[in-house]
Amino acid sequence: RQKELEGLRDLPAVTSDGTAITLNANIGLLSDVRVATLHGAEGVGLYRTEFPYMARSSFPTRIEQATLYRKILSAFPGQNVNIRTLDIGGDKGLPYFPCPHEDNPFMGLRSIRLSLEHREILHEQLAAIMMAADAGKPTIMFPLISGVDEIREIRKMLAAVADELEQQGYAPPRDLPLGIMIEIPAAVQIIDFLVDEVDYVSVGTNDLIQYTLAADRNNARMKQYYNPHHPAVLHSMKQIADAARRAGKKASICGEMASDPLNTLLLMGMGFSEFSLSAPSIPVVKQAIRGHSLEECRAAADAILACRSNGEVATALARANEALR
Ligand code: PEP
Ligand code: MG
Repeated sequence: RQKELEGLRDLPAVTSDGTAITLNANIGLLSDVRVATLHGAEGVGLYRTEFPYMARSSFPTRIEQATLYRKILSAFPGQNVNIRTLDIGGDKGLPYFPCPHEDNPFMGLRSIRLSLEHREILHEQLAAIMMAADAGKPTIMFPLISGVDEIREIRKMLAAVADELEQQGYAPPRDLPLGIMIEIPAAVQIIDFLVDEVDYVSVGTNDLIQYTLAADRNNARMKQYYNPHHPAVLHSMKQIADAARRAGKKASICGEMASDPLNTLLLMGMGFSEFSLSAPSIPVVKQAIRGHSLEECRAAADAILACRSNGEVATALARANEALR
């Protein structure tokens, strides 16, 4: 079976009725690059940039960051690398950047909120990404977006950073595709407004599930509540796919939910055609895609979306599991 999966590496992720699906890798460390290539990733759908910040004793300089980004970008020639800006706070801290105590850090100054409060950090990171951009095909993605105002602030910052680099003699790219992560229920509610402002969206299901269901993603006692198949989660996913299609924008999924073959097929049935997953899961997900038609996926997704309770979903899931085996 392992051999069979290895044989899939160079085959396309295409359904039996000919729909091409993109399977990208989530990476964090430079060493993940090899793992991604080895498993046949078509690019990087989520580069979590906080890891290089974590394994140090002070903030990396923009030159240090740019050097690292160049290495990553050049490891994926001709392929997209989606660089997510610093996503700290919540459960991810930096030893050299102490944050004040918060009673509810996951509802506190984390992620893009921290970046917009400490702009010098984001400013340096954006400069580093622009300085490295000619080494490959980067896109920039911003985490934990809750409103249109944040996107407009970010656009102003991108322009200011590009102006500064230009004055210093660089030729920064002005047209880097800009994406946001959909991780907060508020973002789902205003998804049509958000997709209008960006080039693409990517769903961070790890956070979207925890915030939608008010169930801590890291709390084992919340396992019963942290349910990727809760009707509220499934309908949120559907709303995001529909809004992106209406606006002609790309929507992908980069949370753990996409690493499970059955989930991937259901999400394809809802309209998603791009996924970013932990690289070792790519072959088994690809195998599932190649073994089924989009029609089958749609039928299974429709059946699941018609369910009103977790119990009904469980029955529909078991049926889908049989049908899509
Ligand atoms: C997510 O929330 O689903 C996600 C991909 O981001 P992270 O796991 O890094 O918070
Ligand atoms: Mg997240």
